Amino acid sequence: MHEMPISENPGGREPPERSGRPMRRLFIPAAAAAGVLFVASVAGLAFGRSLFNEPGVRELKSVRDELGAERLLFVFAHPDDEITANALIARAKKEGLAVYTLTATRGEAGAQYPPVVDQPHLGVVREGELRKHLFALGVDRATILDLGDGKLESRDFETLVGLVAAEIADTRADAVITFHPESGVSDHRDHKRIGAATREAAGRSEAAPTLYYVLGPRPALNRFGGETGAKVAAHQPPPAFAVKAPARDKKRAWRIHQSQSEFLQAAWGLSPTVLYLLWTEEYYARADETGAP
Ligand SMILES: [Zn+2]
Repeated sequence: MHEMPISENPGGREPPERSGRPMRRLFIPAAAAAGVLFVASVAGLAFGRSLFNEPGVRELKSVRDELGAERLLFVFAHPDDEITANALIARAKKEGLAVYTLTATRGEAGAQYPPVVDQPHLGVVREGELRKHLFALGVDRATILDLGDGKLESRDFETLVGLVAAEIADTRADAVITFHPESGVSDHRDHKRIGAATREAAGRSEAAPTLYYVLGPRPALNRFGGETGAKVAAHQPPPAFAVKAPARDKKRAWRIHQSQSEFLQAAWGLSPTVLYLLWTEEYYARADETGAP
């Protein structure tokens, strides 16, 4: 039987000097590799972020000063729509502003990612998820209507306008934030309809609140959003300002919305961790600067 040599230095002499300092010998190439890796990561991150974020948009420093508002009303169609604006909501609360929300439906017709309840009770669960998220954000009052998920277009428009107008009057909101009526962030009909009703209600309000639209990032919509994303990007107005969106708040929101917690993987093929490492801002337009009626 062949015996394996126990030493590769059969002569018994000391090995050459270079092996006497293994740490130092390893340190330089390891540091170089780490450096290369670091530079590559930074470059990769910058590239990834350029795919998700709008370039050169002014970053909002103060909600109170720059929106000139003390009372903000957010108007959306479904539970989880508020995730698109949760950084602005959190910033407003941090500055001590009053924040109100109006959600037109309970989201009962939505798909579940993953299934967490029998479908007939999804509305109950999603209303609960919405309330929990808005509670976590410190929202002062959350109004949730039951106008029918997927049915806002078939609702009488004047009725919708009246409901939003009543909320604007009741909250005495001086800034109203909703979906852009021509693109709705995802081209969802309910989003566009509630956006249109809110635009109409704000326009008629005697208090004349300033109207803002929450937007998606056009680079990501174009690159990853397929036909719908390209359509949304084409119809969106350019953003007027950006709000830094902490990833932890976005991820918390999706965790709270348990019935939608795997939606991002399903829609984008990316985990929230990766997505929000790259997508770091919310974007808003001022309605009276978009040139639309
Ligand atoms: Zn929605």
